[in-house]
Amino acid sequence: MKIGRFAGVTDTGRRRMRNEDALVVRPPLFAVADGMGGARAGEIAARLAADALEDARADTAGEEGIAGLIEDANRRIWERSLADPATAGMGTTVTAALVDEQGARVTIGHVGDSRAYLFRGDVLAQLSTDHSLVAELVQSGVLTPEEAERHPQRSAITRALGTDAAVEVEVQTVTGELGDLFVLCSDGLSVMLGDDEIAAAIEDAGREPQAAGEALVRAANAHGGEDNITVVLFELVDGEPEPASEPAADEPAHEPAATSSEPAGDVRTHGAGAGGRLVSLAFIVAVLVLGLLGLYWGINR
Ligand code: CA
Repeated sequence: MKIGRFAGVTDTGRRRMRNEDALVVRPPLFAVADGMGGARAGEIAARLAADALEDARADTAGEEGIAGLIEDANRRIWERSLADPATAGMGTTVTAALVDEQGARVTIGHVGDSRAYLFRGDVLAQLSTDHSLVAELVQSGVLTPEEAERHPQRSAITRALGTDAAVEVEVQTVTGELGDLFVLCSDGLSVMLGDDEIAAAIEDAGREPQAAGEALVRAANAHGGEDNITVVLFELVDGEPEPASEPAADEPAHEPAATSSEPAGDVRTHGAGAGGRLVSLAFIVAVLVLGLLGLYWGINR
């Protein structure tokens, strides 16, 4: 097996002034990053994460390899935020997928709530677990999945890249099958569209990555486009994989298939984007305790 067609599409959406997402489409490595931070810090954090991944050595492999890459990205963002007070507290999600040399295994590493899905046969399965407040509350039974989808804090994340000297990366390896389509996306897609809608848009586009990516962005915008939307897709097909090569030094800067280009001016992002997105574990525990107290009170009165 080998990597077949692939595409990356990013769009500012309909509500934000700037696009603070970044993407990596450099087979066998693919990734999305969703930045957060005041002013333009989120954009810088996501860009630093993407750059760190693009600097990956050609022999990077396996779960340790991808965890190491993401840890290196974390270090770069953290060090930059210490050196540049304007970027203090910036962070980003990252979800990265690396296909092995035989095209048989796909290793996924992630931090935050950007997602990895696998579309196999007729089933779209979410591979990554959101590192988010609502996901934790669903896990502990405080919220139903339906309540989580409508929750006002649904984009609050519990883990981010660059906000601390160290980061815990969640990694997993999927054994690929012919025809597998992997989908990485920022929450600007997954908050706007349910899994059924994502699957339907990909199916309607004939599972062609570029057409599917554009269709998904259109659908997310049609549902409000409240946030930046980024989606990266790649498929596994029959054939002999090509040998990995070092990226050419003069290659132009990526974002090969962005549907919209950045506005030129120095537009400052306004509103929340930022600090509010990352919540601490202590906050989650407090919410849980309050929830349980409420439950107890409800039962006993
Ligand atoms: Ca986002």
